[in-house]
Amino acid sequence: MQPEKFDAVVLGGGIFGCYAALYLAGKGAKVALFEKEGQLFQKASLVNQARLHGGYHYPRSIATAALSDAHKERFTREHRQFVNSSFEKYYAIDRFGSFTDAGQFERFCQYLKIPCTRIPAHPLFNFQRLEALYLTTEYSFDPVLLRQFYVHKVETTPKITVRKSARLEAVQKTTDSWAMTFRNAEQTQPGPGMRCESPIVINATYAATNAVNRLFGVRDLDLTHEISEIAFFTSEQFKNKGLTVMDGPFSSIMPFGLSGFLSLSSVAYTHHKISYENLPHFNCQVPEDPTCVPEAPGICTTCPRRPKSNAYKMLRQMQQYFTNAAQFTHWFSYFTIKSKLKTSYIDDGRPTDISVLSEKPTLICLFAGKVNSIYEIEKIV
Ligand SMILES: Cc1cc2nc3c(=O)[nH]c(=O)nc-3n(C[C@H](O)[C@H](O)[C@H](O)COP(=O)(O)OP(=O)(O)OC[C@H]3O[C@@H](n4cnc5c(N)ncnc54)[C@H](O)[C@@H]3O)c2cc1C
Repeated sequence: MQPEKFDAVVLGGGIFGCYAALYLAGKGAKVALFEKEGQLFQKASLVNQARLHGGYHYPRSIATAALSDAHKERFTREHRQFVNSSFEKYYAIDRFGSFTDAGQFERFCQYLKIPCTRIPAHPLFNFQRLEALYLTTEYSFDPVLLRQFYVHKVETTPKITVRKSARLEAVQKTTDSWAMTFRNAEQTQPGPGMRCESPIVINATYAATNAVNRLFGVRDLDLTHEISEIAFFTSEQFKNKGLTVMDGPFSSIMPFGLSGFLSLSSVAYTHHKISYENLPHFNCQVPEDPTCVPEAPGICTTCPRRPKSNAYKMLRQMQQYFTNAAQFTHWFSYFTIKSKLKTSYIDDGRPTDISVLSEKPTLICLFAGKVNSIYEIEKIV
């Protein structure tokens, strides 16, 4: 069979891949979007804390903070119906072990010109643990609604061909194109693959970034990977509110978009397993399950070998910052792999790293930072 030809191929059907495909199609390109799983948006784009970053979270990385703040307005405007902007968002500084103190946090907010008002007393919060509490302006996007929106958009855009359950297996470089062969990811035995050709490829596969880069014969990014848990709670007293405690091994609870749930994460307990290798190697990957291997990780939430939930440990840590007036109920947890640049250990930064790893044919590696930085691809393509 002749390979199908496209102007551009996007690998990875999370929010960054979907946005890149839509952007290119909007410029008139004939685009193919390939996703390894049976559905789009099953991994980090669905399983995250849904914070529409306004910069507050990164007092040690001015670059990440400024980038989040720069895209906040546009992301909010263009996704208004999927954004919860009507809750009270508090940031607080822990009295013990924080890398940032109240004075530094206030100066940082002034520098970025992001609003923060110090709250001297509040019946829900425990000021014996909090050095300072601030009311800020930060929103939350709804990953489930975003998924519906982007899946519908890519699947109904005539210029985009979406191929699911398609895992990239082999790549050949011709003079000005990449020739790619995909295997049906649900197929355990090798069979005839789907083939296509394109002069431009965008690798937006996040946790699988290096596995895909290696198929193209280009360099790795230096990454670490963590199997992470987001726990979902409700609370009568704390609904329509969010609290993030800064800056170090602390925790955060806030509305998960418009779902009515609060998402809870904690630096100490969210990350169950860490892989310091460039590919995500974990001891829960077993030879009997070819749907999750370091070269092509699977979906953790539905995996029978996912870690035991740490939801109650996270809650106990979080409750230190509340008075007894606030009560929480745990409903369920989601799990996924969180991938980070190794450099983020220095300043906790989460830049969106876009590198052109081959000029002709073109390979663009799009390693995602914060969700509201989807627009960064426009600077390159
Ligand atoms: C626990 C956690 C909390 C977070 N909290 C926030 C937050 O509050 N706010 C925020 O802005 N950001 C947050 N992030 C970061 C944000 O979620 C990610 O940066 C973003 O979702 C990554 O999007 P993506 O499209 O690049 O990756 P993904 O959504 O992971 O999509 C990549 C896709 O590529 C597919 N794929 C993999 N290999 C192949 C292959 N060989 N061929 C084809 N497809 C392939 C995968 O199956 C997957 O669907 C968080 C992330 C995590 C994990």
